[in-house]
Amino acid sequence: LRKELEKLKGQESISKDGYKVELAGNIGTLQDIDKVIENDGEGVGLYRTEFLYMYNDKLPTEEEQFEAYKIVAERLKGKPLVIRTLDVGGDKDIPYLNIPKEMNPFLGYRAIRFCLDNKEIFITQVRAILRASTYGNVKIMFPMISNIEELRESKLIVEGVKEELRKENIEFNENIEIGIMVEIPAVAIHSRQFAKEVDFFSIGTNDLIQYTLAVDRGNQKISNLYNQFHPAILSLIKMTIDNGHKEGIWVGMCGEVAGDEKLIPILLAMGLDEFSMSASSILKARHLIRNTSKKEIEEKLDYILDLSTADEVEKYIDENIISND
Ligand code: PEP
Ligand code: MG
Repeated sequence: LRKELEKLKGQESISKDGYKVELAGNIGTLQDIDKVIENDGEGVGLYRTEFLYMYNDKLPTEEEQFEAYKIVAERLKGKPLVIRTLDVGGDKDIPYLNIPKEMNPFLGYRAIRFCLDNKEIFITQVRAILRASTYGNVKIMFPMISNIEELRESKLIVEGVKEELRKENIEFNENIEIGIMVEIPAVAIHSRQFAKEVDFFSIGTNDLIQYTLAVDRGNQKISNLYNQFHPAILSLIKMTIDNGHKEGIWVGMCGEVAGDEKLIPILLAMGLDEFSMSASSILKARHLIRNTSKKEIEEKLDYILDLSTADEVEKYIDENIISND
């Protein structure tokens, strides 16, 4: 199979019936970009910048961040690079930030909430991202958005930084795309309104599943309840894609589900535009997509979404989708 997959390098990620998608990689550290390129990723759909902060004993400077973002942007040679702003908190501890311990860290002071409360840190990062934006196809993405006000405030900060850079005669991409992670159920439910104010969505299923099913994603004791086949999860994903498309924006996914071989055909049928996954899954996903007819699965979508249990969904996929090709 590996040999078969090798042959897919340089090929399009296109379904049997001619529907094209983008298969991108997730990265954390600079080394990860090599694997994305090696596996013929069509971009980076999620750059988890928190690693820059975690593998340091103090805040990375604007210059350090700029260098890192620039290197990745250049390596991608014009392919899309979605840089996510700092997603600290939850399970990601950065000791020198001295964030007090909380009872419910996943529901607490994390990600955009932390950044909007620590504007110096946020502005430094936004400056570095904007400065790197002239070296490739850079996009900016905010994590853990839960309401429109947070989004508007974050966008205002980007506008403010742009103004600052203009005054300093520093170049950046004036039209940089701004998107959000859809990883809190409220945002998926209200996605039509969010779609009017962003350029793209990226569905973060790792957190979306955790928050929708009320299952701590790291708790082994209840890991049997953490299930990507839960019909409510599929409904939220579909709702987000539909609402994004109604407002004319593209919708991607950067959670683990984007690389799930059983769900890729379903996501394709729902119209997902971009799949971002760990680099080692990209060619397998391309193989799958090239052997799937989008229209055939579209016809089965309503039935799947109406099923009662996660087991029924998985079983239906096993028997009617995967075994088909
Ligand atoms: C997600 O929540 O699905 C996601 C991609 O972000 P992270 O895993 O970094 O929380
Ligand atoms: Mg997340």
